This record gives sequence, structure tokens and C-alpha cells, in this order.
Amino acid sequence: MNIYNLIDDICQGYTPTKEEVEALLCTYEPYNSYLFSAAQAITKKYHDNIIHIRGIIEFSNYCRCSCAYCGLNAANKKLKRYRMEPKEIVETAKEAYDAGYRTLVLQSGEDLWYTREKISEIIKGIKSIGDIAITLSVGERDYEDYKQWRKDGADRFLLKHETINENLYNKLHTHSNLENRIRCLNNLKELGYQVGDGFMVGLPGQTLGDIAEDILFLNRLDVDMAGIGPFIPHPHTELKSAEAGSNEMTIKAVAITRLILKKVHLPATTALWTLNTEDGKKAFDSGANVVMLKVEPYKYRRLYEIYPKNLGNENSIKQERLRMEELILSLGKQVAQDRGDSIKFLEGQ
Ligand code: SAM
Repeated sequence: MNIYNLIDDICQGYTPTKEEVEALLCTYEPYNSYLFSAAQAITKKYHDNIIHIRGIIEFSNYCRCSCAYCGLNAANKKLKRYRMEPKEIVETAKEAYDAGYRTLVLQSGEDLWYTREKISEIIKGIKSIGDIAITLSVGERDYEDYKQWRKDGADRFLLKHETINENLYNKLHTHSNLENRIRCLNNLKELGYQVGDGFMVGLPGQTLGDIAEDILFLNRLDVDMAGIGPFIPHPHTELKSAEAGSNEMTIKAVAITRLILKKVHLPATTALWTLNTEDGKKAFDSGANVVMLKVEPYKYRRLYEIYPKNLGNENSIKQERLRMEELILSLGKQVAQDRGDSIKFLEGQ
């Protein structure tokens, strides 16, 4: 297999097989550099070197699930739990809007304290502030919940399939199964959400073939966004002794995804930055065009511990955004000023 030709063909619109994606995941220099340059060229062509900064409000760390990798899992009794009141969430959104954010991601553990009505109230409250796109990321819920929130004005939904290897998925998520996860993703698409999917790299038991299938699944689902991040072990989970996923493999997966899914938004995920700040920056030169910054008060950020991380010094929402803007400009890229809807969505309007 000629790797240069394969990369060129994918850039021209060819959809690779699982074996071909696997071969790309295994490449080394000088092919890696060729892959990253190709991903960067596609990003420039379709996204014009513009990076979108999203604000994420992690509003509750209560969770009914028992994901084997996640620090929020219900069995973790060491974690102090918190919930932000709807009013406090809307106030945080207002501060983020004033700091320049035009997309807010509302994320939580699967917490049924936030009923359909409470989430509706939050969506309407945020929408009354100004033209802000809302991405929900609250896990698996009933079709009717998703339907109501879309009616209320929620624009996007982020729900990662985590791993497409069904045996592995079902082993890591004893409270649910892959079939239901995919049903939820299909429901969200049907309801007209811009759908964000994604997966983790380096889960114990995951193979390169699985990662290749993960990437091809994103293509089949025809997503609007895909978050690909390394697995990071958390000390209060079943997987506490497992090795962390590789940032290098994650960045390659992002680059290959960019070659195939040219128009989608691809974040340089928080987990990448957590393992190594330089790799966060590197992802911007390998196909990523989005970054998410936490905006909830620090007293909550410390407790939203899906994996261990260092939060650094406390700064205001505005200061943190300015710092990220400076970093993006220093890399020769520009900062988006709009809501950053997906290209596919805008073309369909
Ligand atoms: N409950 C919602 C859901 O299920 O989509 C959103 C919250 S969940 C904590 C957000 C994401 O965190 C998951 O999709 C998963 O990919 C990521 N995550 C959780 N634990 C992780 C870990 N140990 N390492 C890397 N990513 C992790």
C-alpha cells in the first residue's frame, strides 16, 4: 500500500477501508508529516484557518451511570457532588456571552434532577440573552426530552459513542449498551440537532482496528462535530491502574478524521491539553479547528473531575478567553467571531 497515494486519494474524496485507516494509524515518519500537512491543508481549505472557541458550563457532577473510566461514575463515593441552579447557569452564560462566547456547551453527568422542564427553562433563559448557540451534553435521555429541548431552541447535541467495539462498550458501560447509545444519536439527528459524536483513544482492550472503525462510524453517521480524546485513568475508577491513551495516536486519529470528514468541526479536546499543552497546540496543525474552555465558577470546576487535571490559577472568563485568543493568533490562525454552526448545517439552510 502506497501511503502517499492513499492520503492523496482520501483528500480527493475516496473513502478508505478499515484496513487502510489502520495502516494510516500505524504510520511513522516521513508519512506522519505528510498526513498532518494534508490534514492542515484541508482544514485551511474548508475552515479558513479559523478556530472556534466554545464555552462549556459543567453544571452538575451527579451521575446515574457507572462508566468504568469516568470519575463522575455513581459508585465514586469520594467525589463531592454539586448542582448549579438554573438561575446560576443562566448568569454564567451571560458572563460568557459578555466575554465574547457565541456557543455554550451545557454538560453534566446523567442527572435526572434536571427534568425536561428544568432544562427547558435553562435553554430559554440562555436564549433570551442573545444569539448564542446551545450545545447540550447531558447523556442518554428520552426521545420526548430531546424533542422538547430542540423546540425550546437547543441547536446541537454532543453524545460520544466512546468506542464502537460493542463488547468493549458494553463491558465499560454496565448500566447501558452501545445499541441504545446509537439509538440516541439517530434520534438526535432525526430531530434536526447538529450532532457531535466522538470516542476515546487508548481504552484498555481497544485495538487499532477499533479506532479505524470509530473513525469510519463518524463518517457513516455523518456527524457535524467529533471529539476525539485520549483516555486518562482516574484513581477512583475500575480503570485506575490502566495506562493513559497516547496523545500521538489521538492526534493521528484527528488528522485522519479530518481527511475523511472535511467539513466537520474537530476540537483539540481538553484531555489532549491535560496530558500535554504542546499537544493541544499541535492538534490545531493537524486538523482540529475548535477548542472548549470551562466557564463555570472554579468551585465547581474542581469537582467536575472526569479525570485528574491541574486547573492552574484562577482567572476570569474574559481573561481566559483572551489568553486562548492570543495563543490562537500566535499560531498564525484567526478566532471565529460567529456562532460556528457546522458547514453542513449552514449549507442545508
Ligand atoms: N454524561 C454525558 C454523556 O454521557 O455524554 C456527558 C458527560 S461525560 C463525563 C463527557 C465525556 O467525558 C465522555 O463522553 C467521555 O468521552 C469523557 N470522559 C469521561 N471519563 C474520561 C476519562 N477517564 N478519560 C478521557 N475522557 C473521559
